[in-house]
Amino acid sequence: MALGMAIGYGLLEMRNAAPAPSREWCLFLDVDGTLVEIAETPSAVVVDPSLTTLITAVAQRLNGAVALVSGRSIATLDELFAPFKLPAAGQHGAERRAASGRLYGANAGRDPDLDGVRAPLRAFVDSHPGTLFEDKGRTIAVHFRLAPHFEGSARCAVAAAAAALGARYEVQAGDRVFEIKPKGFTKASAAEAFMTEAPFAGRTPVFVGDDLTDEPGLRFAEQAVGISIAVGDRIGGQWRFENPREVRRWLVSIAAMDEAPRGDTRVAPPPSQSRN
Ligand SMILES: [Mg+2]
Repeated sequence: MALGMAIGYGLLEMRNAAPAPSREWCLFLDVDGTLVEIAETPSAVVVDPSLTTLITAVAQRLNGAVALVSGRSIATLDELFAPFKLPAAGQHGAERRAASGRLYGANAGRDPDLDGVRAPLRAFVDSHPGTLFEDKGRTIAVHFRLAPHFEGSARCAVAAAAAALGARYEVQAGDRVFEIKPKGFTKASAAEAFMTEAPFAGRTPVFVGDDLTDEPGLRFAEQAVGISIAVGDRIGGQWRFENPREVRRWLVSIAAMDEAPRGDTRVAPPPSQSRN
C-alpha cells in the first residue's frame, strides 16, 4: 500500500528538497522517525534540548500553529518535550490537546474495553523474546524491532486480538510494530480538528511524517491544498526528506523567517512573500 501510494503520487514528482517556508503555514509534525531517529525501543528515545528550543521557535514564528501528531500518548510527548506542552495529537489521533489546552479523549486514560486483550498480548510478548508490549491506555502496541523474525507471529497475535474486540477497533501497522487502536481516529482526523480552531484555522496545513500512520495526515494536507512531506521512503508525499536531520535543518529555516507581522502579509500578500 505504501508503495502504491508512493507511485500514485508519482515518484518522479516527489521532490528531494524543502518547500520554502511561509508564515501562512501551520505544521503537523510526527515525532519518531520525523523529528528524532527511531531508537531500538520507544523508551530509549531522547529529545535533546536543542530540538525543543527549535520547535518552540518555529511555533512562535507561526503564531503557535504547530502540533505534534504521534502514536505516543500525550503524557509521553509532554515528558519528551518538557517543560513545554505543545498542541498535540497522541495515540494516532485517539487523544488530542488543542492550542487552548483543552483535552479531547485524553481524559479517558485507560480504555477498559481493551482489558480483554491486555493479558493475551502480554503473554505473547513474554513467550517471544525481543518483542515488546506497550500499553498507552487507548492503544496497545506490540513492537518487534529487536526480534524481526517474529513479525509474522506478532501480526497474527495482534490481528486476532483486534478481531476479538469487534468492529470498533483496528490494527495500525507501523515500522516494526503492530498496534490496536480505536477506529475513527487518525492523524487526519486530528489535523482536521486542529484546522477548525485558532491558531490553525485559515492557515495552509503542512504535514510531515515517515510511517504508515502518517499517510492519512499527508493525504489530508494535500486535499486541503496544503503540503505533504514524507521522511525516508516508507510513504509518499509531495516532498521528501531523507531523515530527521534534514527535517530539523528545514525547521531552522522556518524559525529564521523574518519577523514581519503576519497580519500585514495576510491582508495584502506581496508577491515576493506569498510563497517564500
Ligand atoms: Mg513516525
